[in-house]
Amino acid sequence: MNCPHCGSENPETAKFCQNCGGNLTIPPERRKETTGLQSNVAGLLCYLLGWVTGLIFLLIEKEDQLVRFHAMQSLITFGSLTLIIIAVSWIPLIGVALGGIAGLVSFVLWIVLMVKAFSGERYKLPVIGDLAERQIGAI
Ligand SMILES: [Zn+2]
Repeated sequence: MNCPHCGSENPETAKFCQNCGGNLTIPPERRKETTGLQSNVAGLLCYLLGWVTGLIFLLIEKEDQLVRFHAMQSLITFGSLTLIIIAVSWIPLIGVALGGIAGLVSFVLWIVLMVKAFSGERYKLPVIGDLAERQIGAI
């Protein structure tokens, strides 16, 4: 095989280049990411604009299962929270308060999920996380 560092010919069994001493063992293949982004950065972006970015990443990312999981979790979490906020806003008197609570929950989840995704963690919300995993598997 040829050394990837200096190009000189080496025996197939050699682990290090006889010319430059470079490592000849082939590095483990990087996980393929359709978006070309690092998994953790793409994971964070899944949550950035709530369910909208979740949906976008679900549609464009076909290889990276971690990113697809975050995208699906974002879509389900913020999709349902958005629907809840719209629904409760029609309730007289307490609608505004309920909407405010749902908005606050959204905000806290948004921060937590972005931090967890950026740290590379496959952070699963209770119930929604399992639902997201099942949906990913079903696609
Ligand atoms: Zn070499």
